[in-house]
Amino acid sequence: MNIIFLGSAGVGKGTNANRVAMHYSIPTISSGDLLRAEVAASSAIGKKAKAYMDKGVLVPNEIIDIMIKNRLQKPDCKNGFILDGYPRNLEQAKLLDKSMKIDTVINYFASTKVILERLGGRMSCSKCDKGYNINTIKKPKEAGICDECGGKLVQRDDDKPDAIKKRLDVYKKQVKPVIEYYKKQNILTDIDSSYGYNELHKIIDPTIKAIDSA
Ligand code: ADP
Repeated sequence: MNIIFLGSAGVGKGTNANRVAMHYSIPTISSGDLLRAEVAASSAIGKKAKAYMDKGVLVPNEIIDIMIKNRLQKPDCKNGFILDGYPRNLEQAKLLDKSMKIDTVINYFASTKVILERLGGRMSCSKCDKGYNINTIKKPKEAGICDECGGKLVQRDDDKPDAIKKRLDVYKKQVKPVIEYYKKQNILTDIDSSYGYNELHKIIDPTIKAIDSA
């Protein structure tokens, strides 16, 4: 069960990827998380990747390729894995094909309006950094004030509408050829991010009727 989850920030793919991963006892492998761990450890990969990540541009394919290949060789991947955030361009997809057979690709999508609502609602405390979302149940008890420490809530610059739209445009351009690549192989399914976990599960494993609702 080797699965790829595609989808821009704000579509909720991370949450669903983790649920599916738990169900099958396979790991979710997020290229962003792996890179952040490398940076935190000041490894050779982390040192090379940091400058790109700070600018918000893609880290060169050859660096990512080595990192992902090493990770997929670990014993916990023997029954499968879910890749989240990788591949993000056509070259990465082709490199991955050389070392792994991919069974299913789930392509999450949501309208720009929905994404703007989700990401645009994110706020964090300027004092203790606790995260909130004013458009979801994660909103603070009192508008603009942190529940925990009373600090002022602020919005990150890259969560402002124009910055979000720009990020989405860049993502779409990079990932479009990846979507086409997997469509040609007949292994990609588009899924509206407003669908629940059961719909997603039916796509991944049609033999399962219903699972623990979450
Ligand atoms: P975001 O969705 O904001 O891009 P991620 O956690 O997925 O967040 O990635 C953070 C950063 O890590 C990206 O901006 C990019 O620099 C780098 N990165 C993550 N995945 C990849 C990838 N597959 N290829 C190249 N760079 C990547």
